[in-house]
Amino acid sequence: MATEKPESLITDGVRLDGRSAEEMRPLKIIAGYLDKAEGSAYVECGGTKVIAACYGPREVHPRHLTLTTETLVRARYDMASFSVEGERKRPGPDRRSTEISKVVSEALTSAVFVEKYPKTAIDVFIEVISAEASTRVAGLTAASIALADAGIAMRDLVAACSFGKIYGKEGGREVETVAVDMGKSEDNFGLADVALGYLPNLRKIVLLQMDGHLTVDEFRKGLPMGVSTCESIYQQQLKALKAKFKQY
Ligand code: ADP
Repeated sequence: MATEKPESLITDGVRLDGRSAEEMRPLKIIAGYLDKAEGSAYVECGGTKVIAACYGPREVHPRHLTLTTETLVRARYDMASFSVEGERKRPGPDRRSTEISKVVSEALTSAVFVEKYPKTAIDVFIEVISAEASTRVAGLTAASIALADAGIAMRDLVAACSFGKIYGKEGGREVETVAVDMGKSEDNFGLADVALGYLPNLRKIVLLQMDGHLTVDEFRKGLPMGVSTCESIYQQQLKALKAKFKQY
């Protein structure tokens, strides 16, 4: 269902859903969400809802992908056919999900002590059950908790968020504003959208992708906003993991 382009995405500092530019949507994180996976997580960010399940370290199939000195961290991102409004999404992999699976796998690989598990594979399945923008970063945040929940040795967790640029009005004048955590209409009609994956303790960026255009100054403004959002996501990831393991 096509929604109409709003006249302004941010008016006098207030976004369509009432947030300020620096504010993310309500975030809910559950570690150990699934009974049957070795590690799992549920992440909800506004209307975006994602489940991640981790298996491994285990034998690599197909065998020829085996790495002799390290584990192969493989993420598979999928959007459920019922995850989008209106027309159902065509089920199965496509170019977009293949690309997201690749960049998420690379980001997770940076966080895992891969040399601890040579000749094995660690598989993480990411299922988007409700897609309202910024699904790849929610998926990455969930996947990293699923790995930790499975007891995989990690250098750090990956916390991920989006930031970008939206158009709006300030005192009736037209403005362009840098903001974090793109919502649905901001993703559809916004001017730029950056996906950021961050290792909070190592202070290292492991995912950075941009749709649209930001000037260097806008990027310099947005990046610290994104990093600070990742830092607060990280605190919630820790809280979720502690809550899960408190029961043992
Ligand atoms: P991200 O979800 O990481 O922001 P994109 O920018 O590619 O990735 O997608 C933005 C949004 O577009 C998604 O969150 C989802 O709401 C919507 N979308 C993506 N692919 C489809 C699709 N095949 N059908 C319907 N909506 C889609």
